[in-house]
Amino acid sequence: MSMNTKIIDCKTHIDEEGLKKCGELLRHGEIGIFPTETVYGIGANALNETAASDIFRAKGRANDNPLIIHIANFDMLKDLVEEPSEMEQKLIDAFFPGPFTLILRKKKNVPSIVTAGLDTVGIRMPENEIARKLIEYANCPICAPSANISSRPSGTKLEDIEEEFDGKVAFMIDGGMTTIGVESTVCKVINGIPTILRPGKITPQDIEAVVGTCKLDSHIFKCATGKVESPGMKYKHYAPNTKALMVYSENEEQMIELVKEHLTENTAIIGFAEHKKYFPNHQFYVYGHINHLDEVMHNIFTLLRQVDHVQADFIIIEGVKKEGLGIAIMNRLIRSVSYNYIEK
Ligand code: AMP
Ligand code: MG
Repeated sequence: MSMNTKIIDCKTHIDEEGLKKCGELLRHGEIGIFPTETVYGIGANALNETAASDIFRAKGRANDNPLIIHIANFDMLKDLVEEPSEMEQKLIDAFFPGPFTLILRKKKNVPSIVTAGLDTVGIRMPENEIARKLIEYANCPICAPSANISSRPSGTKLEDIEEEFDGKVAFMIDGGMTTIGVESTVCKVINGIPTILRPGKITPQDIEAVVGTCKLDSHIFKCATGKVESPGMKYKHYAPNTKALMVYSENEEQMIELVKEHLTENTAIIGFAEHKKYFPNHQFYVYGHINHLDEVMHNIFTLLRQVDHVQADFIIIEGVKKEGLGIAIMNRLIRSVSYNYIEK
């Protein structure tokens, strides 16, 4: 079914009337696209089963992969989940609002389609003003996965995803490029230890600073099969259409050599600004500067989409050190190259 998709421009200033209308549409069961500080989301009224199922259909998302529920205030939280433990409450106090999703025990009124049958639900309170206002205007919790067709890179600007969803959603709100660029950190307290199921801008160190301990799930840098804590770990993710390889070495010269060894005549490279000069005969896309992993995080998804539009038959991506923000970046890169990855 194709519908007329309304575009709301909030790039330079917030269109309150437009947002209010989008809020009403969500409340009444339509689905629509909106910016958050992490990536764009495709949202629905989380308490409306039909609307939630429309999201799975629009994305082509596997129905065992649960959706995160976005809230605008703490009153919404009480209706969705059981009383958080002391540690969970500390995490909420520290990281809501922000790029942080906490898995909590759900109450009955959360439809099981949203949580893919799990008895837990991921909750996030976005900080982005457009997202917050939209949820306030909708006056209901909004379930929203990343706005991309499943397996494709997440959308960090509307232009990148407009085509994928035109005619499939009631509205798209343009808020310009998202500030962070990768999805939220997903965390679950397991046996009293906060465990990161999906890394993001909030790092293990950030969590340790608040509650003294933090663990990374063992699948963060690996392909997961069978029963996993977070179903999203199992699926193909973030892939450009062109075949891609990632290379990494802690030694900079060795990393440049690794890129050189695997170059074809028509390879596009995604890497550090400082390395562009070594590849004058190739298309080189700068994702950021060495020691500025926030830039890499911000740019990576849009570059993974951009390289599909150039005439390259192969993509080589430079990896980053797996610490701090580098944990989230490498988690996405390893999946975007479908585990085709050389580390020396
Ligand atoms: P996305 O909606 O595309 O940002 O992906 C949401 C991620 O959160 C996926 O990896 C899901 O598997 C994960 N997730 C959502 N809800 C839960 C839950 N209740 N338990 C574990 N992981 C979850
Ligand atoms: Mg996603």
